[in-house]
Amino acid sequence: MAHIGEQDGITIGSYWEASVGEIKEDRQLVGEARFDVAIVGAGYTGLSAALRLAEAGLSVCVLEANRVGWGASGRNGGFCCTGGTKRSDAQLISKFGLEEAKRFLAYQLEAIDTVDDRLARWNLDADRHSKGEIILAHRPRDYAGFAAEAAFQEETFGVEAAVLGPDALKERGLGGPEFHGGLHLPYGFALNPMKYVQALAAQVRRRGGRIFAHTPVTQFEQEGPNWRLATRYGSVQAEKVILAGNGYSRENAPNWLNGRLLPVMSSVLVTRPLSNVELNDQGWTSDLMAADTRILLHYFRLLPDRRMLFGTRGGIFETPDSLKAMRARGRADFDRMFPAWAHVEADHQWHGHVCLARDLSAYVGAVPEMDGVFASLAYHGSGIAMSSLSGEKVADLALGRITQADLPAVISRPLRRFPFPALRQLYLQGAYWAYGLKDR
Ligand SMILES: Cc1cc2nc3c(=O)[nH]c(=O)nc-3n(C[C@H](O)[C@H](O)[C@H](O)COP(=O)(O)OP(=O)(O)OC[C@H]3O[C@@H](n4cnc5c(N)ncnc54)[C@H](O)[C@@H]3O)c2cc1C
Repeated sequence: MAHIGEQDGITIGSYWEASVGEIKEDRQLVGEARFDVAIVGAGYTGLSAALRLAEAGLSVCVLEANRVGWGASGRNGGFCCTGGTKRSDAQLISKFGLEEAKRFLAYQLEAIDTVDDRLARWNLDADRHSKGEIILAHRPRDYAGFAAEAAFQEETFGVEAAVLGPDALKERGLGGPEFHGGLHLPYGFALNPMKYVQALAAQVRRRGGRIFAHTPVTQFEQEGPNWRLATRYGSVQAEKVILAGNGYSRENAPNWLNGRLLPVMSSVLVTRPLSNVELNDQGWTSDLMAADTRILLHYFRLLPDRRMLFGTRGGIFETPDSLKAMRARGRADFDRMFPAWAHVEADHQWHGHVCLARDLSAYVGAVPEMDGVFASLAYHGSGIAMSSLSGEKVADLALGRITQADLPAVISRPLRRFPFPALRQLYLQGAYWAYGLKDR
């Protein structure tokens, strides 16, 4: 049965929810409270920051409008990989210089290691699989460019990327009519994102951090050296605040966020488990996580229980009709790319917000003109690893353990407002139309 999801405002209808069973409900904040640090948002960013601060001995609370993992952290594709920008390596080098581009890659790899290290320390399997990631050429001309890209990666960054031709793809169980060759990148792995975020919350609670669910922050007010955050049934006073709402942030909490973020939809379907015959009919038996070369990319992987997960970018408006159309488009793309599975039911289908910014890169740092307020936001659709490390880094900034100069320049530029923010979605509609043409 396909779930439309979110009927009760809390349930997403995702496969991840179904796979973790009952999710712990934290209490709602009622009345007044005081903490050293208040964090807005209980996804990977907010919880990673909370864990760091609780470990440093500070009193910390996480204020969440819904519940732990309700945002993108409980909805994503589970690709723990590089990310945090929509700029290509060549664009990063041209804008920030080679040394900063290298520094940013090192940060992304440290981010993947952060998640890897946590899973090991917490003895959490999280349904992990896949060694690295493969990019699949959706056109012969994209495959033709892979050899040069692999050489560039090796010479510039020392990354050993491997090129696979069409026959090698088939031999590796990566078959499909639209896959004309592959570029394997050696870093990253896949996991169950909900298991990871729930485990992260459990660590925060264990260290004495408080998580308040159903507690939307609606207003910010400065009171001397402190901030007062108004919530539905109370308020929190704190000297330091960390904004970790990403694509679910409220534009007026605080007002600084107004016009600086651009949430965009991504949708995911997960099929029922596939039989051996069905896997062989399609020629897809690999557990490698994969994405295609489209700008409006698809991402997909065979889960350990042999369900296929398939994600599509795109979709701008969140009205029932446009969501329905987005899901239908996702299903049609799946049927075209995996024709042997066109008859296979999708047990789960859901969507979530990824978060873009005007400069096409995440921001981790202080909020200008709001003393004591910090933010880590806008991971551009690849934030499992980035938000895990950046949550720690933004906590380190709040603690005064590091300064902005200790972070890569790529993620140190405060979010700029979009020109004519009310038209953000229209710009995007135009861009999507152009990208759709380019992807052909
Ligand atoms: C469908 C989809 C697929 C994705 N696939 C991948 C992938 O495969 N790999 C990858 O690396 N990344 C992926 N991402 C992106 C990744 O999930 C996010 O970058 C990451 O989860 C961001 O974590 P976060 O903690 O910053 O934000 P979120 O997890 O979105 O959490 C923000 C939380 O803040 C809360 N909040 C916001 N404002 C307020 C307020 N005023 N008061 C109280 N609470 C508030 C929200 O309720 C929400 O729970 C995907 C995202 C989506 C939507």
